[in-house]
Amino acid sequence: MTEKIWLSLAHMGGSEQKYIQEAFETNWVVPLGPNVNAFEGQLRTYLGGEKPVVALSSGTAAIHLALIQLGVGYGDEVICQSFTFAASANPIAYLGAKPVFVDSEVHTWNMSPRLLETAIVDRKEKTGRFPKAIIPVHLYGMPASMDGIMTVAERYGIPVVEDAAEALGSSYKGRKCGTFGRFGVLSFNGNKIITTSGGGALVCPTEEAAAETVFLATQARDEAPHYQHSRIGYNYRLSNVSAGIGRGQMEILPLRILRRREINSLYRKAFEEIKGISFQTEPNGDYHSNYWLSTLIVDPEDTGGVTREDIRLACDRANIETRPLWKPMHIQPVFSSAPFYGDGTSERLFRDGLCLPSGSSLTDEDIARVISVIRQALRH
Ligand SMILES: *Cc1c(COP(=O)(O)O)cnc(C)c1O
Repeated sequence: MTEKIWLSLAHMGGSEQKYIQEAFETNWVVPLGPNVNAFEGQLRTYLGGEKPVVALSSGTAAIHLALIQLGVGYGDEVICQSFTFAASANPIAYLGAKPVFVDSEVHTWNMSPRLLETAIVDRKEKTGRFPKAIIPVHLYGMPASMDGIMTVAERYGIPVVEDAAEALGSSYKGRKCGTFGRFGVLSFNGNKIITTSGGGALVCPTEEAAAETVFLATQARDEAPHYQHSRIGYNYRLSNVSAGIGRGQMEILPLRILRRREINSLYRKAFEEIKGISFQTEPNGDYHSNYWLSTLIVDPEDTGGVTREDIRLACDRANIETRPLWKPMHIQPVFSSAPFYGDGTSERLFRDGLCLPSGSSLTDEDIARVISVIRQALRH
């Protein structure tokens, strides 16, 4: 059997172990320390330097702490992009709040500003209140249409929590994803563009918000020699050992983005002449994707009947891991009673779309093998 080709694997740069070693030698084997501070500094600088960044145990934790700081509580509504990973929406439920899902636009696959406004107006009409926050997502690294989303959000005075978990290094109009919303969310899970094995970060609007984030993430201890608490806290800080991995990974992030973009263009070139195959594509020069995952759409009307499932199963037989696009939240059993504002876009993407092996450690030969298996499936 040929070697398995995976969707997206961790890809070390080389200096990660040096920083882990340092943590051990200095006995900073705790959820704070020099690696955490340095990693936060690197992230802040990379994102433009303006906004403080707090390293956390996961991207999910970052969303949770952002919503808490926006005052989201029991019975509130929060608007969330439907076409996403469940981690974008779960923290809404942690707080006893209710998600309201909004569909994607065709050209970015992310939250439609038009449907966002429809949802806001209708929720106000139905409940008498505006939703408490808006969570757009930059799926697969593609920036959402942030001008449109921010314009609508500002029109109604609703803060944005920008889920940039898949989009570290992506930018919109020259500005890094994660810096548009009141809060920005990053993830360093094992399959993301860089990893700390598990981890995340919250991009904060002010130093005060960053301090509040650290306070909430470290069990909300009041200032006192003993343990005293006036508020409910969480154990969400990133380990200093994990942050050592992050430090090494930040040194090679630009290379990882280059390689993911290269892989994307290899796929694109291979299928540009083939009818019925299209890709998630930067709509124009304003959008710069890190192409975390390369994703294609199969239109059976133009492929002579070959479907997404045919291609997925052909890859599976050839020991190549692929995956359907995210199943939208509004058709997930757990969220079936949540309101939804949409036009069928994300359901079509879910039906016809496939994520291709995109890890930066894949060789040109690996990509050629994937391409050849898909080509063969298309000929049948
Ligand atoms: C990975 C991911 C998250 C959650 O990040 P974790 O670090 O795994 O908790 C949130 N949103 C999206 C869109 C993601 O892909």
